[in-house]
Formats: sequence, C-alpha cells, structure tokens
Amino acid sequence: MQNDQENALRNRIAKMMADGLQTQTEPFPETDREFGQLLAELRDLPAEDLKARLVVSGFVDKPYGPDQMRCQECMYYLVHRKWCDLPELAVPVEPDWWCRLWRI
Ligand code: SF4
Repeated sequence: MQNDQENALRNRIAKMMADGLQTQTEPFPETDREFGQLLAELRDLPAEDLKARLVVSGFVDKPYGPDQMRCQECMYYLVHRKWCDLPELAVPVEPDWWCRLWRI
C-alpha cells in the first residue's frame, strides 16, 4: 500500500472514531488463550469489514487506562510507518491510539 493510501485509510479510521464509533475495549485479553480467541474472532471477519474489525479489536483514538497504554509502546507498532503490524489488523494507526491487542 502506498503512503497516500495509508494516510487516507488512517484518516478514515480517525474519522470513524471521532464520529463516536463504540468499540469493545473490554475485556482486555489477560492470557495467551484469550488473546488467541480474539485473534481467531478477527480472522473470522471479512477482510473488507473495517468497522467490525475496529469494533472487535477495541480501537480508541487516545491512550487507554490508568497506564495510558498506546500504540507507540506496543510491540506491533512500526514507528516510521505509523502502522500496526499485527497480521490480523494490519492497518495504519496513530501513536496515541490503542486497541485491546496491545502487547509490550
Ligand atoms: S495491536 Fe493495537 S495497540 Fe498494538 S499497534 Fe496495533 S492497533 Fe496499536
């Protein structure tokens, strides 16, 4: 995907959240099993259903929780590309966003 396309998609996601998209931020997957179940749920969704994927993964457009977790510190975040490299998501993100697949 070209940079322009990634920027456009990142803006589209930002707008969906700014417009009030309610996503499933809880429960946070505490165990590998719960994490795996969430990944399986994402894999079952149609690749083109961006909204459903954002909802299931619990996207928010700001740091989350008392620890203020965010994409920037997540192991899947590619800093220079502003990209989520988790294969089940694989979307452009902002460093201050978060989702419940967050891992360090
Ligand atoms: S897994 Fe979630 S928190 Fe981590 S980079 Fe991707 S969108 Fe951000």
